[in-house]
Amino acid sequence: MNKRDYYEVLGINKTASAKEIKSAYRKLAKQYHPDRNKEAGAETKFKEVQEAYEILSDERKKAAYDQYGHAGTQSFGGGQGFEGNFNGFDFSDMGSINEIFEQFFGGSFGGFSTSGNSNRSVRGEDLEVNVKIDFLDAIFGTEKTFDYKRRVVCHNCHGSGAKDSSAMKTCPTCKGQGRVARIQRTFLGNFQTVTSCPDCGGQGQIIKEKCPECNGQGIVNEVENFSIKIPQGIPDGVTLRFKEKGNSGRKGGGYGDLYVNIEVKSHDKLERKGDDIFTTLKVDVTEAVIGSIKKVITVHGEKDLEIPAGTQPEAVLKMEGMGGPKFRGDGKGDQYVRIIIEIPKKLTKEQKEIWTKIHEIKDVKPGFFDGLFS
Ligand SMILES: [Zn+2]
Ligand SMILES: [Zn+2]
Repeated sequence: MNKRDYYEVLGINKTASAKEIKSAYRKLAKQYHPDRNKEAGAETKFKEVQEAYEILSDERKKAAYDQYGHAGTQSFGGGQGFEGNFNGFDFSDMGSINEIFEQFFGGSFGGFSTSGNSNRSVRGEDLEVNVKIDFLDAIFGTEKTFDYKRRVVCHNCHGSGAKDSSAMKTCPTCKGQGRVARIQRTFLGNFQTVTSCPDCGGQGQIIKEKCPECNGQGIVNEVENFSIKIPQGIPDGVTLRFKEKGNSGRKGGGYGDLYVNIEVKSHDKLERKGDDIFTTLKVDVTEAVIGSIKKVITVHGEKDLEIPAGTQPEAVLKMEGMGGPKFRGDGKGDQYVRIIIEIPKKLTKEQKEIWTKIHEIKDVKPGFFDGLFS
């Protein structure tokens, strides 16, 4: 699918400030909100606007997007529990939409209102982990294992919080129904509302004896040992999303996601831009004048580079195919070598005589025969 440019989606240009991005987003989110706009395609537009804002409002994601386009913000197949696309916004999660719209409109939005019941199910929090990888590992891909702490459903009680199945009893408040009716008196008359039971959280059952492992919480802390596959050519600053690898929610609310921020360590000699590699090379003035073969460090090891006769200071020589493999697709980038010409600071007596001789004859133009013997 061809994704539209995020700036285009929000109708702003690349130099827009954080404030301008936010205000463009608010305007469009209001316009396309599926509760207000029933036109066909409004929901798709709404999601598109959400996604664009999610990236452009985050300094790091925005930088990755500015540099690599959509590739910079996507996750990659191969790992455990991997999502095909980076899409931090989950439309099915009405809770988060409601929060956004509470901020906008100062109150809950029609259809999304939730009771203030602390017993209702709540989705687990998303977690964030920063992972540093070596320069060469980012180029050729690797597998990375790390530990992180998260809250998981208790293995002993499977989240019920009860010691065992006989440690539960029917909730006396709702008599096992999970819902209670309330009469609300207003100046318009009396209204009956049915809400989830405050004592059992809608479960219909309460705990007689708590699970000793989780102390009735249904959730325990755990250190997770997690392994991810880093694809070749991964850009610096990319965030990978692993679905349901975050914290466990409460009362069956499901797991949050795990976001892994990739930071690529720098290399002391090589610099990377996409799949191209950049470096500098010091060349003696005589080598630049008469030409030579020099060893150059590349991501593929040390390679020979021909310095042609007459190479100028700051010349950039291209080593074709000596860059990293492409992030997506086949082929390789190139390496670019910027030449720094070193002028000797001290000369021996003999060298000085030779340089003096060169100086004396330097204005003599090379003739036809000189070309034949060079
Ligand atoms: Zn338990
Ligand atoms: Zn109850």
